[in-house]
Amino acid sequence: MKYDYLVIGGGSGGIASARRAAQYGARVAVVEAAQLGGTCVNVGCVPKKLMWHAGQLAHALEDAPGYGFAPLQPSHDWARLVADREAYLRRLNGIYENNLNKDAVDIYRGQARFVNPHEVEVDGQRIGGEHVLIATGGKPSVPDLPGAELGITSDGFFALTQRPQRVALVGAGYIAVELAGVLRALGSEVHLLVRGDHVLRHFDDILSHTLTPYMQESGINLHLQTSPQALSPAADGVRVTLSSGDDLEVDSLIWATGRRPNLDGLEQAELALDAGGHIAVDEWQQTSQPQVYAVGDVTSAPALTPVAIQAGRRLSDRLFGGQSEAKLDHDCVPTVVFSHPPIGTVGLSEAQARERYGDAVKVYSAEFKALHNALLTHKQPSAVKLVVVGDDERVVGLHSIGPGSDEMLQGFAVAVKMGARKRDLDDTIAIHPTASEELVTLR
Ligand code: FAD
Ligand code: NDP
Repeated sequence: MKYDYLVIGGGSGGIASARRAAQYGARVAVVEAAQLGGTCVNVGCVPKKLMWHAGQLAHALEDAPGYGFAPLQPSHDWARLVADREAYLRRLNGIYENNLNKDAVDIYRGQARFVNPHEVEVDGQRIGGEHVLIATGGKPSVPDLPGAELGITSDGFFALTQRPQRVALVGAGYIAVELAGVLRALGSEVHLLVRGDHVLRHFDDILSHTLTPYMQESGINLHLQTSPQALSPAADGVRVTLSSGDDLEVDSLIWATGRRPNLDGLEQAELALDAGGHIAVDEWQQTSQPQVYAVGDVTSAPALTPVAIQAGRRLSDRLFGGQSEAKLDHDCVPTVVFSHPPIGTVGLSEAQARERYGDAVKVYSAEFKALHNALLTHKQPSAVKLVVVGDDERVVGLHSIGPGSDEMLQGFAVAVKMGARKRDLDDTIAIHPTASEELVTLR
């Protein structure tokens, strides 16, 4: 069987690209080895965000007495939350399948193994494509340490049907911070092993310097400048030997030490890789093989679902929709870390801006407690920062941490993308009382 467009991987990028191509009239097939929807739907954004909402509710229950409610001691049923979450995800898998069917995209179930750059084998069947898209995503990366296999990854976290009472997370990026927040909010004893001085050290320092002490204050045991050296079995879980020489015993250890591209089965496509081991692509998603393309986490683009989706759709717009200039726009990608409290960030950090623009950089920032905290004893911090450049103070970075930062960012990202200057923000009437107004009243 030969298609106009053969898509390997039915995740965020693959499905988006396949459907767009089919809507232009191309004959399209998607090959998926696991559940439709990929990482985001099954073991990423969606289940993570549901767990984050559970954590937010737990915090709201803790805060309720500050607003006149009798103190509550609710019990939490992790197993029920997980069962309901998974049932919801299975419905999403069905919706993805229906949408592909509606667009007349053929679905092949199984692991695709390339036999040459334009042909794969799936369950003994050969399928070819005039154009081929590789959208096989990524998988967790685990350090090579003695006993490392005794730990789990974010995939294993989503498979937990019981909440671990004592848990260690290794890492200081998105996943470590997000899962640590959820587990702490729902009642676990959480240890975060951070090899540097701060969590999220690659983000603007106002974010990492606000979140790091607050995580400690909210009961997470931060082990800074600490790495695990080895894992061994313990009576009720795992013993972790730390770089300090101490031992830590936990029910579960979760590796949150980054992800790597999923290249299994792609060997015979003979694609060039970049220095980081991702599939090398140019700005048009073109790989080293003619008419073979790659999008999403298998490339070195930011590992975010909307990035994979935009790359996939724009590629189909170009290949099948007659839009010869359509391509992913890498500029100003907004992103949210679903920490407690959440972070929203777009553009350059202050350090990145100073590296690029030197003395032309100016910074405006504020640290505050949102009004929500007024009646509470346990107060969450908020902070915002604008990084601007030149005499006209063009905004090149906007960073926010605090309740509401997740939902506040999208609108501001539009303004930054459009080239907003500080005075455009100042000219916008504030919305009072909100945390967002801080960004239009900075002095
Ligand atoms: P994927 O969605 O991973 O899809 C790849 C698909 O290819 C998979 O279904 C896989 O089974 C299939 N596949 C692989 N090899 C083969 C083969 N040989 N044959 C057939 N099928 C194959 N991003 C956000 O924007 N917001 C978030 O809040 C967010 N939270 C996240 C939380 C976690 C815990 C994780 C791990 C990731 C999160 N992400 C988030 C990142 C996001 O999930 C990814 O960037 C996105 O899923 C990448 O899409 P993709 O199409 O490149 O790959
Ligand atoms: P990240 O790249 O965000 O972070 C990896 C972390 O692991 C870093 O803090 C790094 O430390 C640490 N690390 C790496 N190797 C080791 C080691 N050997 N020992 C100790 N620590 C180590 O990866 P994640 O796994 O958190 O997430 C992968 C990607 O998925 C993210 O980059 C993001 O693109 C995406 N994602 C997006 C989310 C969202 O949009 N909300 C949520 C979750 C994931 P150091 O800081 O010192 O470099």
